[in-house]
Amino acid sequence: MAFLTHFPVAPIHHHSSSLFTRFFLSPKPKTLLVLSALSSPESVATSHFSSTSTIIPSSSPEILQEISLPEETPLRIAQEKLFIPPETEISSEKPPRILRGSNIVLSKYARDAQVISADFVKSSVETEACPSDGSPEFALVGRSNVGKSSLLNSIVRRKKLALTSKKPGKTQCINHFRINDSWYLVDLPGYGYASAPHELRRDWNKFTKDYFLNRSTLVSVFLLIDASIPAKKIDLEYASWLGQNKVPMTIIFTKCDKRKKKKNGGKHPEENVQDFQELISEYFEGVPPWIMTSSITNQGRDEILLHMSQLRNYWLKH
Ligand code: GDP
Repeated sequence: MAFLTHFPVAPIHHHSSSLFTRFFLSPKPKTLLVLSALSSPESVATSHFSSTSTIIPSSSPEILQEISLPEETPLRIAQEKLFIPPETEISSEKPPRILRGSNIVLSKYARDAQVISADFVKSSVETEACPSDGSPEFALVGRSNVGKSSLLNSIVRRKKLALTSKKPGKTQCINHFRINDSWYLVDLPGYGYASAPHELRRDWNKFTKDYFLNRSTLVSVFLLIDASIPAKKIDLEYASWLGQNKVPMTIIFTKCDKRKKKKNGGKHPEENVQDFQELISEYFEGVPPWIMTSSITNQGRDEILLHMSQLRNYWLKH
């Protein structure tokens, strides 16, 4: 519990409309089915885009061509560690289709996963000042230097979009980007600046926490964690705070292309991914969804978009 001192626990807050509340409460399967989430290119294609046409995104042929396929260590995931969206049945007759490099099962809500337009809308200094049109949104947050700007640009396929929020004065704001004129990607201030004065850090915590707890259109926080290094205390604090406050969260592991083992006991991204999940598991009622990504190879880009689409479409319907 020591690492919670910096980021005190607020009263448990229930998002009544939260789809994650349902996700978390879905019963855990008793049987242990071992599945491969990171598999060969051929089986990736099969597992992503086979069976019913409702799930296949209109962009699937393009996605199949564009997905880069770096060498991946097969990662085996027990069924109880999968994130199973609501209204998604899995059984031995109907094996789940898992997004590559993640623990996320694809649901019938995965569609419209392409970015056609992306526009910077506004920077807000408080939750009340954020856009009020009711569109669903996803907030990206992470330690400074985790690769947030790179990922944001990779998602929207633009080199400079996120730079708008890196301008002086904008880094401490809630920055809204409108995607396809129907939903938002939100860039939140990075945390853990070693040089930030204590006062500034405290204000920032208050400001961001208010957004997490009170933004009714927030579908999920995307917490970015650098998978090329072992878990940092501040990342664990952040994840545990989100978990304990029942703020819907998806973990985005960044820099998964950095595969070289460091001499002094450094670990591969897959090992850091496993370690991080174990360290935070006690703070979550269910298994949080996670995706491994790289802005260099674009690994995880299409998976993030498919996951966002299924969360968004479910949220819109309920
Ligand atoms: P931010 O401070 O979180 O916005 O991080 P940036 O996107 O500015 O990235 C910080 C540093 O990490 C830069 O030097 C990037 O080139 C590097 N970086 C970002 N994403 C990746 C990645 O996926 N793989 C690797 N190898 N480096 C990355």
